[in-house]
Amino acid sequence: MKEDYIYFCSPINALVEGIYEEKIPFTDIKKHGDFGLGTFDHLDGEMVMIDGNIYQMTADGKVTQVDENTLTPFSCVTFFKALTEDTLDGVVNHQAFLAWLESLLPSRNIFYAIRVEGHFEHVKVRSVPKTENYKPLVEVAETQPEFEFSNIKGTLAGFYTPSYLSSVSVPGLHLHFISDDFEHGGHLISCRPNGIKVGVQFIHSLKMDLPMSLDYLNCDFKRDTAKDLDKAEK
Ligand SMILES: [Zn+2]
Repeated sequence: MKEDYIYFCSPINALVEGIYEEKIPFTDIKKHGDFGLGTFDHLDGEMVMIDGNIYQMTADGKVTQVDENTLTPFSCVTFFKALTEDTLDGVVNHQAFLAWLESLLPSRNIFYAIRVEGHFEHVKVRSVPKTENYKPLVEVAETQPEFEFSNIKGTLAGFYTPSYLSSVSVPGLHLHFISDDFEHGGHLISCRPNGIKVGVQFIHSLKMDLPMSLDYLNCDFKRDTAKDLDKAEK
């Protein structure tokens, strides 16, 4: 039986410090999962992987399915297999949705993969714009276009990460949205679900590769990037 683990091709700290190019092909990423999120080389949009398909959601609002030779500096994946499944009926606001989701996570100290499917009365997302190396992520975050959709069916895919792992991954809930017609999506800012089901996978094993690029090897990681990450990802 295959062991459940969450896989990172690099720590999120590298992205926060402006290392946006690692030339890691998704052929490598897919050895570790069929579900997850991340970004693309040159920070060219938000990535969501569902059932092994990789979607690129760029800052112009477009969604494109890309092939496995596409390159990423940061991706986080697992082979998704829900341990628990729950449904939430009726319209709930974003705060209530988050509270409900967190009530399904019995401990704050392990990872969870989370897949939400259903109907949304409203969804607000954003996408990172293509950016050259070394511009800190927190500065890029100030210029991210946002998109809003009403009455839309789609999937939220992502993870819960323990707070003490903020150099590895975005702490707390981190979800990317993609519509059922694969035409809209991005990094979730807020949503108002109206009839959803959620699958949660409990993960207590972590595998991470460290890049061997000169940018990564020479980067000074002494700075505490937790505040920057919080600002960039919220
Ligand atoms: Zn994101």
